[in-house]
Amino acid sequence: KKITIAIDGFSSTGKSTLAKQLAKKLNYIYVDTGAMYRAVTLYALQNGFVTKGHVNEHALIANLPNVTLKFFFNTNLAHSEVYLNGVNVEGHIRTMEISNLVSKIATIHDVRLKLVEQQRFMGKDKGVVMDGRDIGTVVFPDAELKLFMTSGANVRAQRRYDELLAQGHDVTYNEVLKNIEERDDIDTHREDSPLRKADDAIEIDNSDLTIEEQFDKILQLVKK
Ligand code: C5P
Repeated sequence: KKITIAIDGFSSTGKSTLAKQLAKKLNYIYVDTGAMYRAVTLYALQNGFVTKGHVNEHALIANLPNVTLKFFFNTNLAHSEVYLNGVNVEGHIRTMEISNLVSKIATIHDVRLKLVEQQRFMGKDKGVVMDGRDIGTVVFPDAELKLFMTSGANVRAQRRYDELLAQGHDVTYNEVLKNIEERDDIDTHREDSPLRKADDAIEIDNSDLTIEEQFDKILQLVKK
């Protein structure tokens, strides 16, 4: 029987790596909700709705009907790409510029309404692994399995730094750490923050776990 798997947690906790592998193993679809917020952020930048870090919320909200997001997920390769209005933007949404702006865009109520609705639609037939911040609390409060991933900010900064370097981005470790701390701050301390651990979520601190160890642990939970 297919289930819904909700994976929430801070940025760079390795949620997406884990979620993709899980989807591959179970032959489920994978939805990277962070990529959706990032794509909307890219849209805002491309259309001049951001000036000097200030977001013209009114203009962005008025234009939300013109934003169409689609996913391509290759189950065999555990590879996911997001399309913004028909264009593959996967290679353009992980820049520091977008990382620095996305949490702000993600606090806009109408943006969340639109994306949450689409996420629910994508997961309506179950057999989905979805990762984000509010999947177990808002998007799928009835998900059969909820995971909440944590790990230390330094561990996460190192992971993201290695990832960005591998993708050819020009960043320093300190820039990445600062960005992660800032996003943590927005993601946890604002009252309108999306990140909350659902009461029935299982917390996994993976600071000292390899991907394989986490994967084994989670597969056991899926089997229960
Ligand atoms: O997961 P990722 O780091 O790519 O997410 C980027 C940002 O999008 C997060 O820092 C958070 O502010 C926002 N987000 C959100 N709700 C989600 C997923 C991401 O608010 N479900």
